[in-house]
Amino acid sequence: MESKKVHRISIAVFFVLVLALLYFRVGEGGSSIWPKGRVSGDSNQRLVMGTFARIVAVAMDREVAIACMEAGFAELEAVDESMSDYKAGSELSRLNAEGFRVAVSVSDALFEVLERSVEYSKKSGGGFDVTVGAIVDLFRGAKEKGERPTEEEIAAAKEKVGYEKLVLDREKKTVRFAVDGMRIDLGGIAKGYAIDEAILAMKKGGAIGGMVDVGGDIRCFGAPGKGKDVWLVGLQDPSVEKDDMGPGKYLLVLKLADAAIATSGDYRRFVMVDGEKYSHIITPSSGEGAKKLSSVTIISKTAIDADALATSVSVLGAEKGLELIEGERQAEAILITPGPEYEIIKSSGAEKYLHGKY
Ligand code: AMP
Ligand code: MG
Repeated sequence: MESKKVHRISIAVFFVLVLALLYFRVGEGGSSIWPKGRVSGDSNQRLVMGTFARIVAVAMDREVAIACMEAGFAELEAVDESMSDYKAGSELSRLNAEGFRVAVSVSDALFEVLERSVEYSKKSGGGFDVTVGAIVDLFRGAKEKGERPTEEEIAAAKEKVGYEKLVLDREKKTVRFAVDGMRIDLGGIAKGYAIDEAILAMKKGGAIGGMVDVGGDIRCFGAPGKGKDVWLVGLQDPSVEKDDMGPGKYLLVLKLADAAIATSGDYRRFVMVDGEKYSHIITPSSGEGAKKLSSVTIISKTAIDADALATSVSVLGAEKGLELIEGERQAEAILITPGPEYEIIKSSGAEKYLHGKY
């Protein structure tokens, strides 16, 4: 049994914390367990799912590597087409428009993501909830008007939220809303799902290794690029300018093999209303922006798990969030509390992912 002790390191950071995942690889020298002669295709940054995505595919043949990279992007794009609530023609937008009136038939993929979402809702005691769309919309509208939503507006939006009001028919693959005005928002889970699908497509295509990064949520598997032994992911040090990034400049460097990592937090995306900052992550029970943690990084086996748990823990806060993570066999967490005296809190097994060098 691993110790349940939580390691705490205090750090003082006197500026706005900007933490992002930076992907890079280094050679470990000499002891490679991976086949020599492998090649990798690197897409560099491409705009997908409203953010930058990057795929690296490793294979024994250049053409296979490139085909796998493209197969990965095709998956990311397919998920975006179906699950974006920004796209009027997406399957999700159609469900949001009609879900109260009729039971809507959906694709296997969308049904699976909704089922998984309900699983995370139950696990997190309702902290994670994809039916939070009405409140998310309220805050988006508030940003445009420059006015904070009223208590009445928040209370009315809360009526339209609740995963238990989502009726999923597994046999018929239909979805129905038990309350009028309910809106599903998959912003907290779809990226993770898409990354897992991309990895699957790359494996099927013959890649012996690879990495998929969508907006800082990352999963990697198998052999890293030529001359390297591990996949390393750097957590950006907020005191270092973006242009000055590189070895020695990271807050933490994690080594990953067949693992995924996702970060949620209010430092990256938030809404400014009337001079006040609101997190884009909503606490469903209060209808307010989550502000217990500044940043949540989850390492897990799959990207959907890391993505959904990172959003869940952002809502739950350090104490309940860590309780959730300690109960998950495969997940570990690195949390950063709100400033000005930031604290980094790690779950009991997080140390094994820390890379000594850098
Ligand atoms: P992430 O960056 O993965 O934490 O996802 C944040 C996004 O998830 C937000 O921009 C919303 O689209 C959506 N969201 C907000 N609050 C919640 C919540 N309590 N549960 C699930 N998704 C949420
Ligand atoms: Mg998430």
